[in-house]
Amino acid sequence: MSNVGEVSVEEERDALERRQEVIPNDHSFALCLTHDVDRPYKTYQSPYYAVRNRSLSQLRDMIFGRNPYWSFDRIRSIEAELDVRSAFYFLDEESLFSDRPKHELLDPEAWSLYTGRYDIEDPQIVDLIRELDDGGWEIGLHGSYNSFRDRNRLRTQKHRLESVLGREVTGGRQHHLNLSISETWEHHAAVGLQYDASLGSSTEYGFDNGYGLYRPFDDEFVLFPLTAMELSLPIDDDPDRAWDAIEQLLEEAKEHAAVMTVLWHPRFFCSDTPNHAPLYRRLVARALEMDAWVGPPGELYEQLDHPDSSNGNSPLKAGTSDSRSKPPDR
Ligand SMILES: [Zn+2]
Repeated sequence: MSNVGEVSVEEERDALERRQEVIPNDHSFALCLTHDVDRPYKTYQSPYYAVRNRSLSQLRDMIFGRNPYWSFDRIRSIEAELDVRSAFYFLDEESLFSDRPKHELLDPEAWSLYTGRYDIEDPQIVDLIRELDDGGWEIGLHGSYNSFRDRNRLRTQKHRLESVLGREVTGGRQHHLNLSISETWEHHAAVGLQYDASLGSSTEYGFDNGYGLYRPFDDEFVLFPLTAMELSLPIDDDPDRAWDAIEQLLEEAKEHAAVMTVLWHPRFFCSDTPNHAPLYRRLVARALEMDAWVGPPGELYEQLDHPDSSNGNSPLKAGTSDSRSKPPDR
């Protein structure tokens, strides 16, 4: 008999079997690809980095109107070539000048948070959203910095994105991984989102939040824990070590029939950070070689069996993704 807190071999095996039921088409594990669209335009960063790095090439971006952060074609071509799709989460951030209190105009943090914003009704963004949708990519909501505690704000942002898209979105992630457990998920569920991918870290990678999905309310609302954000890996300084870490994560995912979710911000696919695109491509290619199902969370979500209150016996019912129904508090 196992001690309290320990998981018996049988419980481990049951949890593994339940996770396997979640992976589509008998694949060995799932890799969910996500991109948070924070800053598609390189604006105030150019003079900042030009001064900090004494780099004139940064100023060239400004003077000649180059926009290296617009790397959506590159992401699309990598994924189309490998015949996979991902999710793009669009951010409808508040404007420092028209939405925020006037005193924040004197706050440098507010400037860094809000001045890189884009308008999701800008024709270039509208075209991008529709092209991605037409091509089979998932469009989701990247809740603005303050929306994790603000249901009405989140609802407004969801409606605005859906009016651009022309239909409902399934899920998304909070900007900066902001999360108030479980208040934020209550807001997400209340506005009609069906999944959230905010549970994770920008500095640590791994399966600290388990190998499976969670149902915090034991209903249709599902959490996709974030396994790795590109920022948590030493991709710029030591790409070999970053690759070793990624390969280990993939091995671990396979061994445990995990749903591994990764986040790559589109701006890292630009020429300023040349190691990222090849590493991302290698990650996806390697996962496919290892028999992973690869795609956006929304597509995996559509294939899930949901709890049936009549028999209380569903693959993702309470605690089925791991030995617990709810992720750890943090
Ligand atoms: Zn973000």
